[in-house]
Amino acid sequence: PKKNLLTTPDLMLEEAKALVDSLPNWKCVDAIKVPVESLEKKTIFGSGQFESLQKNIVANPNISAVFVSTNVLRGIQRRELMMTFGVPVFDRYSVVLQIFKDRARTREAKLQVAFAEIPYLRSSLVGLQKGTKNNLPVENTSRGSKGGSGESFCDSQLHLLDRREIKIKKELEKLAKKRTLLKCERKKREFPVVAIVGYTNCGKTTLIKSLTGDSKITPRDALFATLDVTVHGMKLPCNLTVLLVDTVGFISNIPVNLIAAFNSTLRDAIDADVLVHLQDISHPDVENQVATVKDTLEQLNIDSTKTVIQVANKIDKMSSEELDDYSDLHISAKDGTGLEEFVDLIQTKVLEITNRRYLRLMVLSGGTEYSWLHKEATV
Ligand code: GDP
Repeated sequence: PKKNLLTTPDLMLEEAKALVDSLPNWKCVDAIKVPVESLEKKTIFGSGQFESLQKNIVANPNISAVFVSTNVLRGIQRRELMMTFGVPVFDRYSVVLQIFKDRARTREAKLQVAFAEIPYLRSSLVGLQKGTKNNLPVENTSRGSKGGSGESFCDSQLHLLDRREIKIKKELEKLAKKRTLLKCERKKREFPVVAIVGYTNCGKTTLIKSLTGDSKITPRDALFATLDVTVHGMKLPCNLTVLLVDTVGFISNIPVNLIAAFNSTLRDAIDADVLVHLQDISHPDVENQVATVKDTLEQLNIDSTKTVIQVANKIDKMSSEELDDYSDLHISAKDGTGLEEFVDLIQTKVLEITNRRYLRLMVLSGGTEYSWLHKEATV
């Protein structure tokens, strides 16, 4: 039976709660659905709702911060809400950034997060500039020179941020070069690469753990448990070793800057021989999650000829009538159902690709069978 799986305000609220709960030391104590009146207004909510929110928050001593799950609030809006509610106010951007910060392990991931934070810090400062107090500031405005001590403080802070941004960018470029070298090394050794992509929490880490028996990997029931791209070797039944690449989980409405920050790492990971698109089919919002991953892959300009395998995960949580026919495979990364078939399918795809590569090599070496080989190689 086809389920109606459109994203609803309730599912969005659920995801917002999950985001907060995925941070250590953060816990969601209350969640309220409030329509946003206008994102252009300083307070964003209608005045009646605003007052009742204020009353609620001020009366509850367990609330030490408020997460307004709107994508990005302007600096001036954050401050306005903060002063009214009497507690720090976060938007989706700052919460996701916090999660990324918490999860970043490699130097590159840490720098990428720091890089993505700069426009956010900049927008907070722009709101403080003199003359913008009563208007909503236009983000990233050019730095005027109207004078005034408040402004010169902001200007020098903005200057510092500019310098920091350039420095981080340079450092990231250096690391990207090193990664490209590593990639060439990987190619030279001829290990085919299989990248696992999917919505955050769909089971990528669990799958790799089950396939490789790597006990060092700990899957966490948390959004973004995998931030850095990690690589694990797996031997196929035919004795060929493939490299499994685990990528950062995708998520809808991810702040654009953060996607941009992770673009290069992601693109490298996705530059694999085979892509496995893993899907948590037990999730009520799976259709939206699948669409998000497809969109993101499109944005990353994935080669349309790339072999993509659609794999439905967590089937142990479903009854057999609930399983769809769209996926290439149904598995449970947790209890191991379907993993043998999964490995066989990977092997078939990888062998197809490596055979094609082998034929190309023969074509390059010339000879009388050139045209025959060429035909085979481009099938
Ligand atoms: P990732 O973010 O995609 O790497 O997801 P994880 O591998 O960390 O898994 C997220 C959560 O889903 C964890 O609590 C896993 O135990 C759970 N999980 C993963 N695969 C399965 C599965 O096949 N069945 C069930 N029931 N749970 C699973």
